[in-house]
Amino acid sequence: MKYAVIIPDGAADYKCEGLGGKTPLDVAKKPCLDSLASRALCGTVSNVPSDMVPESDTANLAILSYDPKIYSKGRSPLEAVSMGIEMKPDETAFRCNVVTLDGDPAGGYDNLRLIDHSADEISTPEAAELIKAVEAELGRDGLTFYPGVSYRHCLIWRDAPDFRNFSRPHDIIGQCIADKLPPEPFVSMYRRSYEILKDHPVNLARIGRGLKPANSIWLWSPGKKPALPDFKEKWCVSGSVISAVDLLKGIGLCAGMTPVNVEGATGNIHTNFEGKAQAAIDEFKRGQDFVYIHVEAPDECGHRAELENKVRSIELIDEKVICPIYEYLRSTGEDFKILVLPDHPTPICRRTHTGEPVPFMLYSSADEREGVTCFNEDNCEAAGFYVEHGYTLLSHMIEK
Ligand SMILES: [Zn+2]
Repeated sequence: MKYAVIIPDGAADYKCEGLGGKTPLDVAKKPCLDSLASRALCGTVSNVPSDMVPESDTANLAILSYDPKIYSKGRSPLEAVSMGIEMKPDETAFRCNVVTLDGDPAGGYDNLRLIDHSADEISTPEAAELIKAVEAELGRDGLTFYPGVSYRHCLIWRDAPDFRNFSRPHDIIGQCIADKLPPEPFVSMYRRSYEILKDHPVNLARIGRGLKPANSIWLWSPGKKPALPDFKEKWCVSGSVISAVDLLKGIGLCAGMTPVNVEGATGNIHTNFEGKAQAAIDEFKRGQDFVYIHVEAPDECGHRAELENKVRSIELIDEKVICPIYEYLRSTGEDFKILVLPDHPTPICRRTHTGEPVPFMLYSSADEREGVTCFNEDNCEAAGFYVEHGYTLLSHMIEK
């Protein structure tokens, strides 16, 4: 038996005025998915407990059968693990942005304004040099800054102070930082980073090119590594995770699964859809039983409120991901199951994640049944099968 789980991230939505009162899943032309859904078990599933924030880590942990109430520790440790950092139980990972602060330095650090959480999406090599400079001054035994991609970096701190209430830099753009700063010892690190970075040659060159300098660190989302039970031991299947997102790779690694890198997998509508499908097929061919394919494009369109692109991204996932994987599995002659569901809705009108139940369809080549004619929110709800705890959904798919 082979198992494919395909996640069109954020595809679920509300009824949209721009679509004549329909949802993107309603209007998207997705012949392969609809054909499978017409012969599948269809229903809805709640991936995000009602008292939790619908973050990507929460929803995807649930789909992979890990109760987010127990195992969700925030995104930073998962990103750290995906960067190849081996975290120990007494270490805390912090997301470390390099941000742009603006204002007169003579007025004091605390009176500057945060004007860009990404420093004009600074290039990875430039940011790496800046993080190296910060590490040289602020790093010490048990406290290490690791360079990541663009403005997204990582601080690993052994026995870190237990403060969690950091301001998220993307939430305070344009604001004075005076009342957004964390307590000591964090705030002193911020102030020193500004001294290190504000006249750094990399930043002077950026200013010369008309770009914003990355002149301060900004920490948020601290967390310890989640101790996920090994996926293979839990389900007796070997698994791989295919995603452009560090978070998903991190969950896979923490669960003992194999993360697969796909060239050109960006997460947006220009992502390498074919490459993801081919990577999934290659994983099956080399003997993996379970492949988790996460495609972020519909979520990104939801955040950007791009209605047409959201519909198009669902169509592309059908044509270039679901169809080739289905055709491959069918061609092998072996029994297989395909599970398709968004992790959470990212409604166009909200431009952010919401926590409602999402539609799912579970197709089994050995057990075709009457499903729904169009895979969408209403039809799957009307099908009447509701899974209250998302982390139990996989038990309907995998027979141990
Ligand atoms: Zn999202």
